Amino acid sequence: MSTIKRILVTGGAGFLGSHLCDRLVAGGHDVICLDNFFTSQKSNVAHLLGNPNFELIRHDVTQSIWLEVDEIYNLACPAAPGHYQYNPIKTMKTSVMGAINVLGMAKRCNAKVLQASTSEIYGDPEVHPQPESYKGSVNTLGPRACYDEGKRAAETLFMDYHRSNGVNVRIVRIFNTYGPRMHPFDGRVVSNFIRQAMRGEDITIFGDGSQTRSFCYVSDLVDGIMRMMDGPDSFIGPVNLGNPDEFTIKQLAEQVIERTGSKSKLVHRPLPADDPTQRQPDIALAKSRLGWEPTIKLRDGLGKTIEWFNSIDITNYRAPTPNY
Ligand code: NAD
Ligand code: UDP
Repeated sequence: MSTIKRILVTGGAGFLGSHLCDRLVAGGHDVICLDNFFTSQKSNVAHLLGNPNFELIRHDVTQSIWLEVDEIYNLACPAAPGHYQYNPIKTMKTSVMGAINVLGMAKRCNAKVLQASTSEIYGDPEVHPQPESYKGSVNTLGPRACYDEGKRAAETLFMDYHRSNGVNVRIVRIFNTYGPRMHPFDGRVVSNFIRQAMRGEDITIFGDGSQTRSFCYVSDLVDGIMRMMDGPDSFIGPVNLGNPDEFTIKQLAEQVIERTGSKSKLVHRPLPADDPTQRQPDIALAKSRLGWEPTIKLRDGLGKTIEWFNSIDITNYRAPTPNY
């Protein structure tokens, strides 16, 4: 029997999606990348376009689509706070209607479907580090809720389609991931700091910079997602995927300055509402069930990311929203 699968990647032209498409195409699979290009551009997958086992579809995941596939990675959703808050109602629709559409497709095709969930479902966590059993602390009324609650509802839909309709699902909770092909104007902390450092602009630390994040390099993350999809049907998750090495935002800024040799100054800006004060994945489950743990240290990952930012012409990138 052929091991080549027909695989749909929604949000496949985005930062994580494009790296996932690279891996799946290299594995010989028949890959369909679906994207509405809200927070990405074709250049992320341009190198795959001539490949006979790669197809690109401009489509919005909130609308249904009829495709025949064996597996679906559901990544379509703006991920940077500035972008998901730009049109919060659309963000919620993307998570909820997108989930319903891919789950319906999976049910019809008898396909396996993986949801890219997020550490944001833990909100501003009171438990540290965060294990999968922690139920979270999300402000349902705040500016981040469109994303957090949309992703929480998507997890619920995945579990209900699994229990009610026997759909073969996987749920991964992704923690802050960075690397080449992050949108230079996505407003996330790694891309902002690198862009600012390279241009000699002030580095904008929100709040006092004592809030923490744990940064995972993209190749480690994609490896974890694929292991989860390919793992046994008895382990559907949710599983945390992220790098447990935790840094304050101020430490990140200092590392970026050191790695770029920039003369930029650190400046402080107001902390956005509901900004989580700490975040670190407990990855014991991923280690034991998937044999997975990150291998790339922040120092090395930042070096590769800075190298990529140096290689692009930033004027070729359109800011998806004014929020960066
Ligand atoms: P990204 O913004 O680069 O990628 C998202 C992609 O989805 C983009 O190509 C965008 O154009 C597309 N998209 C958005 N709305 C769509 C819609 N309605 N229809 C079709 N396509 C749509 O972000 P990313 O970092 O690559 O994130 C990918 C997924 O991983 C997202 O679901 C995100 O929530 C999740 N995630 C990412 C991180 C991270 O740190 N990178 C952390 C947690 C979760
Ligand atoms: N941040 C910052 N300066 C920036 C962008 C972000 O200090 O220019 C902070 C932000 O307030 C948060 C952290 O960096 O505390 C991570 O932000 P990001 O938007 O990358 O992701 P989040 O984990 O908050 O979704």
